[in-house]
This record gives sequence, C-alpha cells and structure tokens, in this order.
Amino acid sequence: MHNVDLDLVEMSLDVIKYAIARISDTDPKLGFPKTAEELKALVGETVTPAGIGGEKAFALFRDVLVKASVSIDHPRHLAFVPASPTRAAVMFDLVTSATSVHGAFWLEGAGCIFAENQAMEWLVSLTGMPEGTFGVFTSGGTEANLSAMVTAREYWRSQDDRRANQRGIVITSNGAHSSIKAMAKVIDADVLLVETEDRFEGGILAETIANMTPDDRQRIFAVIATGGTTNAGIIDDLAGIAAVCEAEKIWFHVDAAYGGGALAVRSVRHLFNGIEKADSVTIDPHKWLFSPYDCGAVIYRDPNLAKKAHGQEGSYLDIFSDEGARGFNPSDYQIQLTRRVRGLPLWFSLAMHGTDRYETAIERGIELAQIAGRLISETDYTELVREPSLSCVLFRRLGWSPEDYRAWTYDNHKSGFALVAPTKTRAGGETVSRFCFINPDTTEKDIADILATMA
Ligand SMILES: *Cc1c(COP(=O)(O)O)cnc(C)c1O
Repeated sequence: MHNVDLDLVEMSLDVIKYAIARISDTDPKLGFPKTAEELKALVGETVTPAGIGGEKAFALFRDVLVKASVSIDHPRHLAFVPASPTRAAVMFDLVTSATSVHGAFWLEGAGCIFAENQAMEWLVSLTGMPEGTFGVFTSGGTEANLSAMVTAREYWRSQDDRRANQRGIVITSNGAHSSIKAMAKVIDADVLLVETEDRFEGGILAETIANMTPDDRQRIFAVIATGGTTNAGIIDDLAGIAAVCEAEKIWFHVDAAYGGGALAVRSVRHLFNGIEKADSVTIDPHKWLFSPYDCGAVIYRDPNLAKKAHGQEGSYLDIFSDEGARGFNPSDYQIQLTRRVRGLPLWFSLAMHGTDRYETAIERGIELAQIAGRLISETDYTELVREPSLSCVLFRRLGWSPEDYRAWTYDNHKSGFALVAPTKTRAGGETVSRFCFINPDTTEKDIADILATMA
C-alpha cells in the first residue's frame, strides 16, 4: 500500500473533472494545429529529470496542447471519417486503463475478454456468417486487414508446398482503402488493382481472373471487396464477388472498416448481401460504432486458420496453453501480443444502451447524408457528384478550382467553424467536396450553415 499523496489525489480529481466536462460539452472547440516550433515556444521542455509537476503539465495540456489538436467528435467535423464515441464508452475507456488488465490471454484477462467477446458476438451476428465464425478486436482497420491478409496468405501456402517461396497476389479495386496496398507491402505481396468507376462487381473480377496466366492465377491468395468505400460509401457487389471466389476457391475478405456499422441498420442491410459468404471481415468500432480510439475488429469464418497463422510460441508463453488457462486468447487471432482489452468500452456502451439505440444512431448518419443531398441539390451554386451512399456525400461547388476548395477548407477550419476537406472523384480525378456523417448530433442547420460559407 503506498502512502496517499495529496498532490496525486488532487491531480486525479482535476483529470476526472476535465474528462467529465469534455464528454458533457455539446459544443467542443474544433482545434487547429500549430507547428512544432510554435508549440515548443509555448510549452518549453516538459520532460525533465525533476519533472515539472502534474499541475503545470496538465495546465499545458489543457491550455495549449489540446487546442492544437482537432476534436474529431465536433458536430461540424465532416471530413475524412469523423468519430462520435458515446459518453459511456469514453468513461469506460478510462476504467479500462485504470483496471490494468493484460488482454492477450484468457489466463490474465478472462472476465474482461468474456465481456469483449459478448460485444464481438453481436458484431458477428450482424454479418450473418455461419456458426463458428468469430473475431477479435484490433487497433484498427489497418491491423485487421493485415491480420486477415496474413491468415489468407498462410492458408494459401498450406495448400501447396511450392508456394512457400512464392509471392502471393491479392486482387482488389481502385476504390479500396490505402491500407490494403500498404499492408500488401508489409507482407511482400503483389496487388492487382481492378479499375472500376463505381462498384467492384463479380463480372469484372471473373474477367480479370480469366485474363491472368495460369501461373499468376494460382498465386491469388485473396480477393478484397469494400463494404462502404471510405471516399464515397460505395458498397461493392459482395454477392457477385463471393460467387466468383467460391467457384475459384479464393479467400474472400470484406473490408467494412467504415461501413460495417450500417450492417445494424435494417433499411440498408440488403446492400451488404453476400457478406455472409466472406472468409474474413474488417469492421472498425472506432468509426461508425461510437467507440473511442483505438478499436477495430477482424472476424473469421474459420478462426482456427487465424490461429495457425498468428499463434505465437515461446517457453515463456507455454503456461498460457495449460489446461488451467484454457480459453480464448485474443493474441492468437491477430498480429499483436500484449494488448489492452480495447473492446471493453464498446461492450459497456452496448450493454448500457442496447443495440436498438445503436441502430437509431447509425441510421441518423444515413439520414443526414440524405438531408445534405437535398440541400446541395436545392442550392444553386452546388450540385451532387453522385447520390449519397451510406453516410458519404460527394458534391461540387460550381465554378471552383482545387485551390478554391483548399482555401475554403482552411478558412472554415482556422475560424473554428467546421472541418470539411476536399477529395477527388475516382473517375476523372476531379477535386470536389465531401461530407461524411457519423455524429448523430450534427443538425440540418449545421449542414446548411456550411453550404452557406460556399456562396
Ligand atoms: C478507415 C479505413 C481503414 C483503416 O482503418 P484504421 O482504423 O484507420 O486503421 C481500412 N479500410 C477502410 C475501408 C477504412 O475506411
């Protein structure tokens, strides 16, 4: 037992008070970056042999550092994929840290991993994948995609000894997220990008495979479709692609990192038909399932294949496979060993609110995209690039150059009003503007006010 240090008690109270105030703040400051030089001038040297004390460090954080960081849950932050963690999940994130549980092995984390797994069961149920399907929480979609690709590649190699020294090929479309190409580099695999203007469909996949040499064909270890592209919310032809993968006996991965939350929404669930045929699926709870960072998930039809690819061995780890320690070891199913039980905040929030409230909150993002589509069409200086899909809206300001979009983005961000970033269309590479809705507290007025700044 340590002595109670009054300074520590006071610091703890300040920190908790700050956290409560922050999650109760319905109008958080948007925040704007400063350069490292500017921050150094304001903050000075903070890590010193004697320490600068909690009060001073916390004041620097509150008054300088956090103001130079963007609040991703701001209701007018509609750039990239924003976030909107529930208060319950954020508070439980603090509890997760305070509880100090190692989340790699059942022996150490049984109770907490059990809770994570109940949240995972719900995620798995949304996919409609068969009995035996299960998954694990990861640091994000990138790690989930990497873990699935390693599992697919190892499975492909297990089928033919000659593949031990062969580079595999993964087929995906130009609408896929950047992490697919980046993770293919990590595992030294080739990427065959199918060029599509809109959905990646079964027909073009079949054609692409038919045009490959027999030697290249047998190097295909996975096909990756996207369940909600990050740029435009486009859901690939999952059923068509699944059928081709089934016929060709190729691993089928669905990257639903952004769009996966919409699986919970009855009105759009049919757009994902075919996902139940996947061998693996990525969903990011830290995007559209209101979890704080960082929380992704990877789901496998046959978790044993993931275990073969990812299980780590070492004399110091033997105890974890002992009879007395039997249970689900999250480290067996993805690339990370030591991990926080990062699914706990999602579990607590799901348990507290119930899944119906999740459906309503996710559906609000889709409604906001429809509302934005209407407002854009009604405004005489803006027009839609394509119909809104899921919660993404691509639109143009008539007569604007790329430089105009850029300047407008900076003006709105600097003034603390809104963060809406430009992007490019897949076909043509035209610079346009884009909304992505996650936060159910964004209002129609927010959207109208943002459009008014384009006048
Ligand atoms: C965001 C995203 C990723 C990457 O996920 P991180 O959590 O940022 O690592 C991968 N795929 C898609 C479709 C995404 O939208």
